[in-house]
Amino acid sequence: MAHYTGLIDKYRDRLPVAADTRAVSLCEGATPLIELRNLPALVRKKVRILAKFEGLNPTGSFKDRGMTMAVTRAVEEGARAIICASTGNTSASAAAYAARAGIACFVLIPEGKIALGKLSQAMMHGSVVIQIRGNFDDGMRLVQEVAKAQPVNIVNSINPYRIQGQKTIAFEVIEALGGPPDYHALPVGNAGNITAHWIGYSESAGADTAALRLPEGMRNYRKQKMVERRPIMLGYQASGAAPIVRGRPVENPETVATAIRIGNPVSWQQAVAASRESGGWFAECTDEEILRVQKLLAQTEGIFCEPASAIAVAGLLKDLELGKVGEGSTIVCTLTGHGLKDPDVAIAQSAKPVTVDAELKAIEGVIRQHLPKT
Ligand SMILES: *Cc1c(COP(=O)(O)O)cnc(C)c1O
Repeated sequence: MAHYTGLIDKYRDRLPVAADTRAVSLCEGATPLIELRNLPALVRKKVRILAKFEGLNPTGSFKDRGMTMAVTRAVEEGARAIICASTGNTSASAAAYAARAGIACFVLIPEGKIALGKLSQAMMHGSVVIQIRGNFDDGMRLVQEVAKAQPVNIVNSINPYRIQGQKTIAFEVIEALGGPPDYHALPVGNAGNITAHWIGYSESAGADTAALRLPEGMRNYRKQKMVERRPIMLGYQASGAAPIVRGRPVENPETVATAIRIGNPVSWQQAVAASRESGGWFAECTDEEILRVQKLLAQTEGIFCEPASAIAVAGLLKDLELGKVGEGSTIVCTLTGHGLKDPDVAIAQSAKPVTVDAELKAIEGVIRQHLPKT
């Protein structure tokens, strides 16, 4: 088997790159699809749930799928610098790929509202980090304004190449399962990812979708039918940042799931089109529900994802309970980012370490206290 060199090389004939385009890649993609072994029984449901663990991408989130495309194209077009607004993961990914490409990177982040791991990545990779006294939506507006006059290439998901890269997640799921799942659940923030998932599934089914906005000169990759149908898309938002669920922008979005703390999503209309065409829906979860399921995944399945990612499973469990998702279904949940991104949230909700003297007796005491009963 050939050495895996990233998703552009793997899916070159289904992506808007030339045969000789040199990919800027960190071997992103090819993430595991992990079947949950304990959770279905725990909630007493006969369903098959699989986690597409995007936390195992090179910078720890699915953003790398879009960034390899966006930076590859930027370099090809001769860009000297890229810029993005970010709740954290886009900046981490942009910083890494810019470093790889040898170009400059500017990131706008909301002051004090970005998870520690993500901030450390943007800084360590050498990007210029600009903290704004405002939220993500302010940053997004400013990036679009500044790019009109400055020689910087926007790598937010309004960049169509981002969406093109991210659609490959659907290709991988279909390959792994031999076909699409019945349902695909994921968090919705700026709504680019649900749009990208749906485009990937639609292309694989040889179907058209209103979610696809084709810029000038970009091919439609809908080609020979590879599968017969598309999954039902389930999009989940945090209660404090649920503009699509509520049907209007949220002025001051708030949630512990900072990656989806967005009040006015850029890909709103495309996401609604994707959901509608799939026969799916949007729903919301509270911060308490998100954190409970984040911990449940970590402690019953061994999968440590960040809070925003956990909402995919939290929302699904609610819809299973409501009977909106039936037993016998196969559901894929995209776990968008790694739990290590946000150590503060993890530590705040976990049992504290016990401190003892460096003596055998003390250790044995702790073990006796915590050993499961036989
Ligand atoms: C960016 C991000 C999201 C939201 O994706 P959108 O495409 O903005 O809807 C969800 N979870 C994580 C971890 C993210 O980094």
